[in-house]
Amino acid sequence: KNMVQEFHVLRCYSCQTYQVQQVKKSKKWNCKMCGEKQSVLKEFGRGSGVDCRRHVQKLNARQSYEKYTDNLFHYLCSVIKPNALLCLGCFGKWPEEGRRNSLWRHF
Ligand SMILES: [Zn+2]
Repeated sequence: KNMVQEFHVLRCYSCQTYQVQQVKKSKKWNCKMCGEKQSVLKEFGRGSGVDCRRHVQKLNARQSYEKYTDNLFHYLCSVIKPNALLCLGCFGKWPEEGRRNSLWRHF
């Protein structure tokens, strides 16, 4: 039969890490980072191992950048609060002031 191995890009629901997994008949897989067993819910890409690894790097980089900017906004928010900045994390916490003074809503 077809000997070419196919890979796909999946994301762990538990630790949120994108990773390359070999495509299997069974929908079950184990996260390489945290070991969590889960089923394939969403596929973020499919192809050769090389292509998938490249894609995973991009996705993980984007994700950590987003986490970083979220944290940064949240930090600024907690320092300057509550007048100037408003990050999404704090938006819910200061409903009244928040909405009135919201000059800067995320991106
Ligand atoms: Zn995981």
